[in-house]
Amino acid sequence: MSAVFDAIVIGGGPAGSAAAALLARAGREVLLCDAARFPRHKICGEFVPPAALRQFADLGVLPEIEALRPRRHVGMAVIAPGGAEVLGRYDHGAACGLSLRRYDLDETLLRNAGRCGARVLQGWRAAGFERGRDGIFDVELVSAGAVPVRAGPGSAAAGGPAAVPDRAAVRARAIVGADGRNSFVARRLGLRRAEPRHRKWAVMGHFLGVESPADHGEMIVTSYGYCGINPLPGGLANVCVVVDPAAMRRPIPGGARLRDFFQERIADHPLTRRRMARAEPAGSLRATGPMACRAARSVADGVLLVGDAAGFYDPFTGEGIAMALRGTEMAAEVLLEALSRGDLGARALEPYETGRRAAFGPRLRLDRVLQGVLARPRLADWVARRLRRDQDLADLLARVTGDMEDAAALFRPRFLARLLLA
Ligand SMILES: Cc1cc2nc3c(=O)[nH]c(=O)nc-3n(C[C@H](O)[C@H](O)[C@H](O)COP(=O)(O)OP(=O)(O)OC[C@H]3O[C@@H](n4cnc5c(N)ncnc54)[C@H](O)[C@@H]3O)c2cc1C
Repeated sequence: MSAVFDAIVIGGGPAGSAAAALLARAGREVLLCDAARFPRHKICGEFVPPAALRQFADLGVLPEIEALRPRRHVGMAVIAPGGAEVLGRYDHGAACGLSLRRYDLDETLLRNAGRCGARVLQGWRAAGFERGRDGIFDVELVSAGAVPVRAGPGSAAAGGPAAVPDRAAVRARAIVGADGRNSFVARRLGLRRAEPRHRKWAVMGHFLGVESPADHGEMIVTSYGYCGINPLPGGLANVCVVVDPAAMRRPIPGGARLRDFFQERIADHPLTRRRMARAEPAGSLRATGPMACRAARSVADGVLLVGDAAGFYDPFTGEGIAMALRGTEMAAEVLLEALSRGDLGARALEPYETGRRAAFGPRLRLDRVLQGVLARPRLADWVARRLRRDQDLADLLARVTGDMEDAAALFRPRFLARLLLA
């Protein structure tokens, strides 16, 4: 592979597939590489907010996603610690979000990137990159099936049989880092930052026979954190418990004990117990954490970070897919302009950084405020009681979390006054 690509997109989740599709559709030579082979599972609550539907349509992939027969949800119910339930609807039932497995969604988006003209490499992990004086990146890819070479007994260095990894070198003018929360690209550039005060983990599984409402998802606030339940197509449901291991003074176990840990959390709350009374697992549980992370900046010379690689806080509000797609649209526009001007320096890419901050700043502030409320059960109950008395406010919150309305609306004195008076 000796040609110089206009861009290499590292990571083929929603952000990477969208970036590759948008760049290739604009006539650019794009390589998309992902360490995984698709379809692959991705730990997620699998709520797709309504805003993403417009983005799927723009990408030309909505009919294929509809063909997967996703469940439609009209909003989200939050069950406060004291039991008060608030159902926030996106648009009185007129607008819906979708519920479907990431296993199916992500493969559909990846296939679309290929159809738009991007070259797609599955099972290849980006393992290094260097920007030369000519401004071109040399990117090292390692086949995900390859055996890593280690100096030691039996290795090539010790004169024994060598495990020769499958490697490839790729040249590209720009890198789009779309490699998720643990972004190699962000780490390699020294941009990745932890969120030491928010270290939640998630354990998620698919189940059959969960007794949950058919037309909306539920977020049940519990003593350990919360549990999200999302009915999916085919009688499946996604059940995801989110915990703070430090607050529980207990690490998340691996292997066979993960199932016991999960079952204990389900047994902890009467509603999750009831919902799961007849549930049967449909596949294995997956755990991940700490979930929150951020990048100090989302641009560097020749590089843009998109999706979770640029930052992720908490899935409580369904933050994720729609934001990843919206950020990617902004990144692609700035990158296309920079490519046509032949200037890919960090300053030329800066409009993406400022655009991101303006678009997502209030939303991220809201996520932090909500986590602060959840950490205080009496306050959470108080807010829930008030939202129950003013359905418009509950709906507004749902529209903001569904990315249909700017989160800044919730920081206006009018909203706070209405909440207090409700
Ligand atoms: C527990 C949990 C629940 C969530 N629930 C929701 C929800 O209900 N709704 C919602 O909208 N969002 C949710 N999110 C967030 C959502 O999953 C992410 O925001 C979304 O997946 C971001 O997409 P992405 O493309 O940036 O990254 P990802 O989807 O993580 O994709 C990254 C890709 O990069 C690949 N990769 C990684 N490293 C390399 C490398 N070195 N080389 C090549 N490839 C690499 C990976 O294989 C992966 O395919 C949730 C997140 C968590 C953790």
